[in-house]
Amino acid sequence: MRVVLLGPPGSGKGTHGKRLSESLGVPLVATGDILRQAIAEGTALGKSAQEHVKSGRLVPDETVLGLIETRLGRRDAQGGFILDGFPRTVAQAEGLKSLLGGRPLDLVLNLVVPTEVVVSRLRDRWLCAKCGAIYNASTAPPKVAGRCDVCGSALTQRTDDEPETVRKRLEVYARETAPLVAYYEREGALRNVDASGLAADVYAAIQRSIGKAA
Ligand code: ADP
Ligand code: ZN
Repeated sequence: MRVVLLGPPGSGKGTHGKRLSESLGVPLVATGDILRQAIAEGTALGKSAQEHVKSGRLVPDETVLGLIETRLGRRDAQGGFILDGFPRTVAQAEGLKSLLGGRPLDLVLNLVVPTEVVVSRLRDRWLCAKCGAIYNASTAPPKVAGRCDVCGSALTQRTDDEPETVRKRLEVYARETAPLVAYYEREGALRNVDASGLAADVYAAIQRSIGKAA
């Protein structure tokens, strides 16, 4: 299965992408995670991406396309993949299309959520820096405050989840990424999923869409 997860910041791409990748046995490729790791490690990629990510702007298309080409070329992605956070512009979608050659995407899942919901989700989002587990202070809190249920490490918030930067990311999403909904509709790959409800209900809706596409 070759799947793209589309949707604004805070729509649940990471949460559902992780579960989907485990159930389908294909890797989750999240460009935001790859970039944050490169920034933490201080690599050349990280240095060039740092300012863009910190301010909520997009990293240049050529940079992201280069890292996707490398990642999708690896052996574990030959049987399929789930893309989270890529493509984010029409130019990236065109680049992906030529990268995939004759084998098009099976499915583009568009996670639809109202803006008020994503703003509060991002404000309440806490992450485990060690294992990547995701919590929500109001709807899915950890058992012990500030500690990961899975590995016991301290929870942190993403620096770009600060309200000013969230506003910027949503603005960039509306301008650069939202046009991909119409783009993939024309390609015939798009399925809309209402992603405003509980994670379990959203995941069930995603599974129904996957079942129809398989
Ligand atoms: P979210 O979807 O919650 O905004 P991500 O983790 O997907 O978060 O992305 C975080 C940041 O990484 C983005 O705001 C942007 O700066 C950068 N980024 C991630 N993916 C891309 C991409 N495909 N193109 C350009 N920039 C990207
Ligand atoms: Zn953890």
